[in-house]
Amino acid sequence: MSNKELDQLRQRVDELNLELLSLINERARLVQEIGRVKETQGVFRYDPVRERNMLDLIKENNNGPFENSTIEHIFKEIFKAGLELQKDDHRKALLVSRKKKPENTVIDLKGKKIGDGNPHFVFGPCAVESYEQVATVAESVKEKGLKLLRGGAYKPRTSPYDFQGLGLEGLKILKRIADEFDLAVISEITNPADIETAVQYIDVIQIGARNMQNFDLLKAAGAVNKPVLLKRGLAATIEEFINAAEYIMAHGNGQIILCERGIRTYERATRNTLDISAVPILKQETHLPVFVDVTHSTGRRDLLLPAAKAALAIGADGVMAEVHPDPAVALSDSAQQMDLKQFDEFYREIKKSVFTRV
Ligand code: PEP
Ligand code: MN
Repeated sequence: MSNKELDQLRQRVDELNLELLSLINERARLVQEIGRVKETQGVFRYDPVRERNMLDLIKENNNGPFENSTIEHIFKEIFKAGLELQKDDHRKALLVSRKKKPENTVIDLKGKKIGDGNPHFVFGPCAVESYEQVATVAESVKEKGLKLLRGGAYKPRTSPYDFQGLGLEGLKILKRIADEFDLAVISEITNPADIETAVQYIDVIQIGARNMQNFDLLKAAGAVNKPVLLKRGLAATIEEFINAAEYIMAHGNGQIILCERGIRTYERATRNTLDISAVPILKQETHLPVFVDVTHSTGRRDLLLPAAKAALAIGADGVMAEVHPDPAVALSDSAQQMDLKQFDEFYREIKKSVFTRV
């Protein structure tokens, strides 16, 4: 074969490539159109029966030289690419992603703007045990010019025989404290059916680590107009964490604070392993404020301050830590809550390290 003939064959291959390209794109446009029709009909995009019929028709008409299996493989790739195209923009860029919304989400909690670039703090007991117990901590929070108070009313405990929280009674105590001390209160809700009632008593709905993938709870929290503090699951990847937040936002509520609280690893020196690099990753990938819970991540009083410093240094919008008037007799997490003196000391030190930075 002469060089000229070879050039001619190559030219023909180039032409066919362009024809294939144009045909593949024409097919893609039709697939997009079908996708839009299916969307208005609420039909699931992937149709295996239709795909099987198309493959059968193609194979019936295959005269070679390609084997049927090769043809099937090539067309499966084309089908797959078409299906990807049918997926709408939501999938390519999640609502919680920075790609979708470059500017930071800022959440107003009684005048404190969470996510505004300044550090914020949430302190309070692990569990609401009594009005007096919460009021004692609230006073100390208020004294420091702080606004956010935590306290669990529904406690998801490892053992069913441990204190489960005061339930609605606990939420009522928090509401009374919030009004009397002009504080914003944060409390965990574990049951989707409790969300509607809870919003009357609290300022932020906490979704705990054990419920990060409780999709009914996420949907219920997405359906109300109340900020949500979503904790990372005990063994959740960052991607799973972000998708859990997406559930809330996809159901209409974009007021979400993400909270890194440590993950389960083989390490036993701390209660959990604080995944500090999750903070800048979450800040980059999403537009949501990111907090770090230093109590449940470390589980050690001696690590609360260094962990809080690390959290703020790496870009966290806030820190959560537990404070109890008398941790020794606390009904939950007694080993890791700060007493009021330790709280004063902690806050003095963290303030020093943060506000000399600003
Ligand atoms: C809590 O903050 O009270 C709590 C139970 O934390 P977590 O869900 O992170 O374990
Ligand atoms: Mn606790």
